[in-house]
Amino acid sequence: MTIQWFPGHMTRARRQIEEKLKLIDVVFELLDARIPSSSRNPMVDEITGSKPRLVLLNKADLADPDRTAEWSRYFRDKGLAVHSIDANAGTGVKELAGKAKELLKEKIDRQIAKGMKPRPIRALIVGIPNVGKSTLINRLAGRNVAVTGDRPGVTKGQQWIRSGGELELLDTPGILWPKFDDPVVGFRLAATGAIKEDVLHIDEVACFMLKVLVEEYGAALTERYGLEELPAELPDMQAAVEMLESIGRRRGCIVGGGHVDYEKAAGVLLRDLRSGKLGRITFEGPAAEKYK
Ligand code: GDP
Repeated sequence: MTIQWFPGHMTRARRQIEEKLKLIDVVFELLDARIPSSSRNPMVDEITGSKPRLVLLNKADLADPDRTAEWSRYFRDKGLAVHSIDANAGTGVKELAGKAKELLKEKIDRQIAKGMKPRPIRALIVGIPNVGKSTLINRLAGRNVAVTGDRPGVTKGQQWIRSGGELELLDTPGILWPKFDDPVVGFRLAATGAIKEDVLHIDEVACFMLKVLVEEYGAALTERYGLEELPAELPDMQAAVEMLESIGRRRGCIVGGGHVDYEKAAGVLLRDLRSGKLGRITFEGPAAEKYK
């Protein structure tokens, strides 16, 4: 479900997370490994406050592994614990309890020193829509739980879900809003499916993505669409449109008069991209990261 975020929604979303923070020991901040900066809520540090936090680079199966390693270093350098996962297949998920334990080591050691038996660690999953919160909850639960309330302002009784003997999580994740003041971020969110296509023009999103693909993942384009003589970069939108046209022709996205149906061609490209058919692709690196 894609939410239209208004100031009232943001305030409610924030308040709901702040309420939930009182109940938990650790925050799992879910990011999309393909766009770790663009999928990050701009106020997440402020909202989660001093709670121990583990950054999870989800959908790592779709992201460029070298870039994921770079991003992991970036977050570690910022003093945050980080771990990459694929919530869909479950890769990396079983390590979460151990990672959370490491973060809470001092507290747990104190409890043990007092002769207390440590109780399961309580976690809250937070992230923007479509980043994989429900998928991760289901993975950790080992079954399909009805994850509800993926809309700010929708409240219901909260329940704890057990995950093995050491971890418990709230069945309702914390929903954060995405960044939306930067058009480039908007394109990245649309390309990965975090925001609805109809918010932006699909052919514009595809052209934007082609620029990144040509510069960094040219081989994937050549291979998938049989394009030859790829330029080193696409200097302008016109060049991107021409490339989309070539892809459309090769894929038979043709309308009356033999013209290319750009929307259809864009649809093909974005579907291939999102499903991983173009290989493992990351759309932004930490080098260009503005806020540190
Ligand atoms: P939520 O809105 O944050 O709860 O996101 P969902 O859990 O509904 O996931 C959104 C989409 O991303 C679904 O189609 C999931 O199958 C998919 N998804 C979630 N995690 C992963 C992952 O690690 N890898 C891949 N390839 N897809 C994922």
